[in-house]
Amino acid sequence: MRAVMALSGGMDSTGLLIRLLAEGYKVSCISYEYGQKHNIELQRAQQNIAYLSENGFDVEHKIADLSSAMSLFHSALTSDDVDIPEGHYEQEQMKSTVVPNRNAIFASIVYGYALSISLKEDTDVIIALGVHSGDHAIYPDCRPEFYQSLGHAFEIGNWDSERVSFHLPYIDGDKEAILRDSLISCKKLDLDFDTIFANTNTSYNPDSKGRSSGKSGADVERILAFHAIGRKDPVEYITSWEEVLEGALKAQLRHYVMKENGTERPFTGEYDKHYENGTYHCADCDKLLFVSDSKFDSGCGWPAFDSEAENAEITQVKDVSHGMVRIEVRCTQCDSHLGHLFHESRGPRYCINSICLNFKEE
Ligand SMILES: [Zn+2]
Repeated sequence: MRAVMALSGGMDSTGLLIRLLAEGYKVSCISYEYGQKHNIELQRAQQNIAYLSENGFDVEHKIADLSSAMSLFHSALTSDDVDIPEGHYEQEQMKSTVVPNRNAIFASIVYGYALSISLKEDTDVIIALGVHSGDHAIYPDCRPEFYQSLGHAFEIGNWDSERVSFHLPYIDGDKEAILRDSLISCKKLDLDFDTIFANTNTSYNPDSKGRSSGKSGADVERILAFHAIGRKDPVEYITSWEEVLEGALKAQLRHYVMKENGTERPFTGEYDKHYENGTYHCADCDKLLFVSDSKFDSGCGWPAFDSEAENAEITQVKDVSHGMVRIEVRCTQCDSHLGHLFHESRGPRYCINSICLNFKEE
């Protein structure tokens, strides 16, 4: 039972390592230094390897330095002149966190390592990968068909390739599934779940003390996963757990409403009963949509405006969902869903989800 894996120091690969140990594998790990801004993840990986060793689990761990080769590439994760975007993981802007061809490069090295171990130890070796369904939308090199093709190419190009195979236990799961699985593995191995996950990093832009803001897409996904299993994330954030959780839930709701045409629950929005003087902007792209002069109390539970701001050019779309004929309104600049427009006896009413707006005081 021999396994090789890439240990990034993030929660997915860490969960995978614990799983492999619980399954009885002897594991060798590679971590990559590739000029990532968040290379605190390598220290965290080393801390976990040390913790495992103290508890009787010896895991071989190598750090491969690829920073010279990968300095040729352009990505928000490695280039100083590109900022890490914030928001929900699935958003278009998160594409800037793709490192070109990263997983093909990482997988090639792991494959060579696995093949070497297979020859040296005269054994079959699995290559375990922590990729999961939550990654697929943004990272095409996390898709199962990519690994199938890669595996096929490696098979053609290597002697004794039949001794090495890919193993992707989380391919149909998500971060929540990984955490639930890790709880079981930790219990089985008598390891402390919180210690292990405190020794991980998910943030792409931690501060100088290694603390995360909790705002990048990957952070939001992680925070929601811990929330879903009813636990507090043991990793340290810049603000309190309550605050980062609130932010993550807000990002999730914003994504649901603006990108999936959802509706927030009535009487829950920050701006429902909000009548300060100022302007309301699209929460996604910041376009000016409404001014406070046009806001009124409709009593319906969502912010209401009787007109849009000059030059807002809000898009109107016929919406026949839920057995009604309504006019849906969308931001013309970023095409996010905002709410609906009703023509009533008193005049027009823009019924807008509060979560789609950012208020700026005059
Ligand atoms: Zn917009």
